[in-house]
Amino acid sequence: MIKIKTNSPEETFAFAKGLADLLKNGVVLCLKGDLGAGKTLFVQGLAKGFQVEEEVTSPTFSLMNVYHGRRAIYHFDLYRLESAEELYDIGFYEYTTLEDSIVIIEWPDKFPEELPEEYLWLEITRTENIDERLITIQLKGESYRQIYEELKQNCQF
Ligand code: ADP
Ligand code: MG
Repeated sequence: MIKIKTNSPEETFAFAKGLADLLKNGVVLCLKGDLGAGKTLFVQGLAKGFQVEEEVTSPTFSLMNVYHGRRAIYHFDLYRLESAEELYDIGFYEYTTLEDSIVIIEWPDKFPEELPEEYLWLEITRTENIDERLITIQLKGESYRQIYEELKQNCQF
């Protein structure tokens, strides 16, 4: 597991922005964290790294947002979904199998059976310090092994 600590919102934003270079060819990223952990801020940083000009917000009500930058970014939030069937309606299975796209899935543990087979799993957690966050990254499958190893080289503390 890769562990990263950030000490301010700006640091989380910068980390996510920098991550765009590593994820440039596409990735499925499961993004877990309690309310206020920094998920939206993280996605804003990542989108910035992909030169997205549109406003990046939480897709809590829209269920999915698409942003257009150097890559298309499909940003899902499963929080309000009540059944896995609704995933069809929002195009989840189509978008998560697109190559060369960035797929972000918030509240990924809501329907664990429905997740793609391979992804990076990123969790943001608060610590006892108000502006500190612990970011952990895990690898599922082999597709993103290279990204994972490169991150590991650069980010371990
Ligand atoms: P979420 O989408 O997970 O509910 P947000 O990104 O909307 O969370 O909000 C995170 C909040 O936590 C913001 O107000 C941000 O300023 C604050 N914050 C404080 N320290 C950090 C940090 N190190 N990383 C990310 N956010 C932080
Ligand atoms: Mg949010």
